[in-house]
This record gives sequence, structure tokens and C-alpha cells, in this order.
Amino acid sequence: MKKQITTILLIVLLLGASGCAKAQMGTDELNETIPMSITAPSQEATADLFAMDTWLNLSAYGPQAEAALAAAQDRIMELESLWSVTNADSEIYAVNHSDGAPTLLSGDTAEVLAFALEMAERTGGAMDPTLYPVLTAWGFTTGQYQIPSQKEIDFLLSSTGYEKIKLDGQTVTVPDGMELDLGAVGKGYAADETAAVLRKYGITSALLNFGGNVLTVGAKPDGSPWRIGIRNPFTDEDTLGVMELVDQSIVVSGGYERYFIGEDGVQYWHILDPDTGAPARNGLAQAAIISSDSKVCDALSTAVYVMGLEDAIEYWRSEQGFDMILVTDDQQIYITEGVAEAFTLRDGQANWEVYVIAAEA
Ligand code: AMP
Ligand code: MG
Repeated sequence: MKKQITTILLIVLLLGASGCAKAQMGTDELNETIPMSITAPSQEATADLFAMDTWLNLSAYGPQAEAALAAAQDRIMELESLWSVTNADSEIYAVNHSDGAPTLLSGDTAEVLAFALEMAERTGGAMDPTLYPVLTAWGFTTGQYQIPSQKEIDFLLSSTGYEKIKLDGQTVTVPDGMELDLGAVGKGYAADETAAVLRKYGITSALLNFGGNVLTVGAKPDGSPWRIGIRNPFTDEDTLGVMELVDQSIVVSGGYERYFIGEDGVQYWHILDPDTGAPARNGLAQAAIISSDSKVCDALSTAVYVMGLEDAIEYWRSEQGFDMILVTDDQQIYITEGVAEAFTLRDGQANWEVYVIAAEA
């Protein structure tokens, strides 16, 4: 029996009561008695929307919060319309049906693609935006799940490989038979763009949750850090602990996000190992990346999940510029030293072994 379980929220947001507090008085009353700069942090606007194949929750605080969120939503929908793999009007769809002809891209798409190709190279191809044909064979793009034959996988793998994509300025050439998929980086990129829109409206405190990809703008309105619950990869009813963030993003990848149980009783998930064309099984149940740049977090959460513990640690030591929390299949937590202080195990999770990874081996 095939089964699909899509977990919408990977990260449970644990917002302190003060962070959620709305203005106690009406806006007009506040404006009459208190200068704008003081009233600003207490004005909250929220938005929920479905985009990029997931639910997004956006909260912004400040005098222009409503207008900022409206503009942010427009920006998100604009990016989605460019990058959707299924929408026949999108640029990525056009590229994927270009039969090998050069295609002119918008600045946004050229930029996110350049970023994806750069990260593919920097991660040794662990993150590779050309796996779409293989993802389709598994049914992850359609929901028609199946286990493809090794022969089919091997054949399709010959139509993958980021290094075969030619991006020259805003013109991309994708060889016939190959297809692009920005699924591993698009949400992170869009979260950064959303934060940029909010900042233009003077927002200095916001929480953006893109289906579990979280980006924080500033601190909570009361000045304390945002508190983000980190999911327990072995159950969707539990959190492992809490990460405190200010002006940072955290993005989590795990095999529980989208998967099916095959007729052989084995669980197969949507993050593929580009070397094998099969779901990545390299000893990690979950990989969380923390940095100030959400698109970097997104690209690396996928890449590090594919790499597995040893290679991920080696990668982190050589690259730096980000932090990570890795949870192994045998229930150990590895956390890089930069965020060890900011992470707290939840009460009742004391049985977990937590190892801090130092920059020097
Ligand atoms: P994420 O949830 O960010 O880890 O991204 C997973 C999504 O990226 C999948 O749903 C696929 O669309 C795509 N994908 C799967 N495996 C890879 C990979 N190794 N490199 C790049 N994209 C991938
Ligand atoms: Mg990712």
C-alpha cells in the first residue's frame, strides 16, 4: 500500500506570550497619546498563504506592517509564478520544455539559478538542481509514487548534472532531456526577498515561516530573541529543543517531509542522492542550517542531509559562514559551536546525546 504523508509544519513555532502580544489599546488611541516610534513595535500584521507548495505564515510588527505584508505577498507570488515546475506559464517550465534551445530568463530567475549552480559546485554536487527527471520517476513531482527500476534510474541519471547547465548572463541553455528544479533553494531565496521587502517598509521585527523554513527579522518586538522549536525527526508531535534567533534563518531538511512507504515496506523520501538517484540514506534523520542568509540555509540543508554526518562536518570546517544541527538516525544530536549556546534541549529530552562540533578537528 502506498501512502503519502506531507508534514506541513516542520518546525513548531514557540512564540513567547510577549512576542505575540498585540496592542492593548486601539491604534488611534495610541497615536494620539504616544509618538509613532514608540507605538511601532506593538502593531502586528499577519498573513497566511499557500505558495511554493507549502503554507507560509508571516508576522510583521511596526506601523507599516499591513502594507509591508501585502507587498511581501505580491513578491512571493511573483517568484512562485516564475519558478513553478508545473505552471505552464513559468520560466522554469519554459526552460524545461526548451528542447535544448537557449532561454532568456528574468533577473530573479537568473540570479536564483546562478546561486543554485554555485552551491551545487561548492557542495560537490550534493545539492543539484537538475534531478527533476529522477524525482518524477519516483513520483515526488506528481504524488503518483512508485519505486523505479535501477535501469530507469541509471538512464535518467545520465540526464542530470548541474555542470551541463550553461548560464550566460540571463540566458540559460539546458540540454535536451534535462530539467531544472529549484525546490531545494527557492523557498530560502523567497524568504530573503520577503525580508528585504519588509525592511523597505521599515519593519525591524518579523517572523517568516515558509513551511518550516524560518527567517527572523530582528528580535521579537520586546527585544528578546525569537524562540524557534526544532522538530523531533522521529515523531511529528514533539520538539527536540528550542533555538534562539535574531536576524537569522533556520532551514531544516528531513526524510519525513514528503515520503511514501513502498510495496517492500521501506520508506522513500523526496531528497535524492544525486550519485544514486535514490533517496539519500547517509545516516542523518534531519539537518538544520542556521545563518543570516536563508537561501544559503536552504541549499545547505539539502546538501548536508545528502552528505551525511562526517562529510557535513568536514564541509562545515572548510567553508564556515553557517551553523548546523544534525540529528543522526541513531538519535544523536551534533551542533556546531557557533549556535551551541543558543540551543536548549526541551524538558523531557534529556536522554538525547548532544555533541558540540568545534571548528578545529
Ligand atoms: P529541501 O526540502 O530544501 O531539502 O528540498 C527538497 C526538494 O529539492 C525536493 O522536494 C526536490 O524538489 C529537490 N531535491 C531533492 N533532492 C535534491 C538534491 N540532492 N539536490 C537538489 N534538490 C533536490
Ligand atoms: Mg533546502
